[in-house]
Amino acid sequence: MILMNPEAKEKLEGIFGDRVRFDRDEALVYSHDLATLPDPVNLLIKTVPDAVVLPKSTEEIVKLIKIAGEFGIPVVPRGAGSGGYGGALPVDGGIVVDMSFMNSIIEIDEENMIAIVEPGVVWKDLEHEINKRGLSLRVYPTSAPSATVGGWVAQGGWGVGSLTYGSVVDNIEELEFVDGLGEIRVIRNRMKLDLVAECEGITGIITKVAIKLKSLEDMVPIVVQFPSATALSMVIERILAEMNPYTLNFATPKFIKMKQEATGHRSLDEKYTAMFVFTEEEYGRVKETFSAIVAEYLGIIHEGEVAIEEWNERFYPMRLKRLGPTVIPSEAIIPIGNLGDFLMAVETELGEFALGIEGWVIGPDKVSVLAFFLDDERSKRFTFSFGKSIVILNLAKKFEGKPYSTGLWLSHEAEEYFGKKRLSEILKFKKKFDPYGILNPGKIFPARIRGIPFVDIGKMMKIGTPFLEFAGKSLGKK
Ligand SMILES: Cc1cc2nc3c(=O)[nH]c(=O)nc-3n(C[C@H](O)[C@H](O)[C@H](O)COP(=O)(O)OP(=O)(O)OC[C@H]3O[C@@H](n4cnc5c(N)ncnc54)[C@H](O)[C@@H]3O)c2cc1C
Repeated sequence: MILMNPEAKEKLEGIFGDRVRFDRDEALVYSHDLATLPDPVNLLIKTVPDAVVLPKSTEEIVKLIKIAGEFGIPVVPRGAGSGGYGGALPVDGGIVVDMSFMNSIIEIDEENMIAIVEPGVVWKDLEHEINKRGLSLRVYPTSAPSATVGGWVAQGGWGVGSLTYGSVVDNIEELEFVDGLGEIRVIRNRMKLDLVAECEGITGIITKVAIKLKSLEDMVPIVVQFPSATALSMVIERILAEMNPYTLNFATPKFIKMKQEATGHRSLDEKYTAMFVFTEEEYGRVKETFSAIVAEYLGIIHEGEVAIEEWNERFYPMRLKRLGPTVIPSEAIIPIGNLGDFLMAVETELGEFALGIEGWVIGPDKVSVLAFFLDDERSKRFTFSFGKSIVILNLAKKFEGKPYSTGLWLSHEAEEYFGKKRLSEILKFKKKFDPYGILNPGKIFPARIRGIPFVDIGKMMKIGTPFLEFAGKSLGKK
């Protein structure tokens, strides 16, 4: 546990005034993210910060890092806390840096289609502003109504538009960050970006991002329902081979059922469902071929109001939380060719679970799958139910899948996620530019467990995985 040194406290107050807080009740708000953790976890790590600061400028972050370095205090950057991998959680107290006050759109370069923004800008607010100039984001997460630009860049990932434009990192033109020595650095080449973006703040606090944009275009969503997982996956592959949807997602019958139960609004059958979204121009070109391919696999097309409603629902995958009251999410990336078999295996192995799956096609060869298990964090079994998230990841691995992210809870999967070479480069970079190890410790590289020598979260998760998986499978019935 870090006891806030009185001298450090005084220095922080001198810089941040009433924008630094030491109050425990306020700190508690920053001790969790999207995921609900079982109580025993809090005995292993200290997720409650000792202080929270709300900087307003890069210069303030430079000063903060220098103080943290001098006193050896961990610094944990935080956007909206909409991630579920524990990336924004302290593991041994320290200072949480809430980036929400750094939320200016600095420049919109219409000619070069670039927006330069501070990290606390919320994706949907940015989209709203650039739409006024006839521009649009190329990619955004479905958490766009709350997630921040810095948070998604630091977490990494794919989202709406990734089928056409790649990951969030593929859409960064330039990035400014403050390293662990308090130096401001600017990077734009991909090799350098790979040492900061997707690195969860362990190599630097992102202070400015230049994001690539596209022209604002009218989109045509088309929802298609299929008799089987195989038909769904075969049509997706055929469509991708013959035309260019802007974005494409899918859902299992159980996901549709759960979502419709949660909202009380029923417009679709409980079937395997895909939503293809085309630019108006592309759809005009391919409409007939599209209908012919879908008909071959007995798909039913929904256009117009029903499809537009589904498209507008993309921002609310968590609506089914109402049925929980707790949702345990689990994510993985799998090759597109294995999608049908993976979905069928989920049905066969986990059929009795209250779980729905939705996913996005995030490139010509891969999809992200997001499983939602319903549970109740107030129940005694919840500690073990947490293992359900591991069930999906391990099943995905059987189909050549890999984790979607690492963060705190999956730090033992970091090598699988980043690859050996990139991980060792990240470590080298971190050691050089964060020599005191103050930047978001415990993420990507596993956190030590309090009071237990030689054991870290990664080792504990590795040892505990088979047990948690067993518990998850046995206790998941609802
Ligand atoms: C409903 C819902 C939908 C979602 N949809 C998607 C999706 O489509 N695609 C996807 O990939 N994810 C998705 N997510 C996960 C999550 O929203 C994203 O990872 C997200 O963009 C995180 O942004 P945030 O501002 O909440 O960051 P946080 O959760 O606060 O932080 C994420 C990580 O970034 C670090 N960080 C935050 N700000 C900075 C900074 N300025 N500098 C350095 N490090 C920083 C934190 O320490 C942490 O490690 C979804 C989540 C929800 C709840």
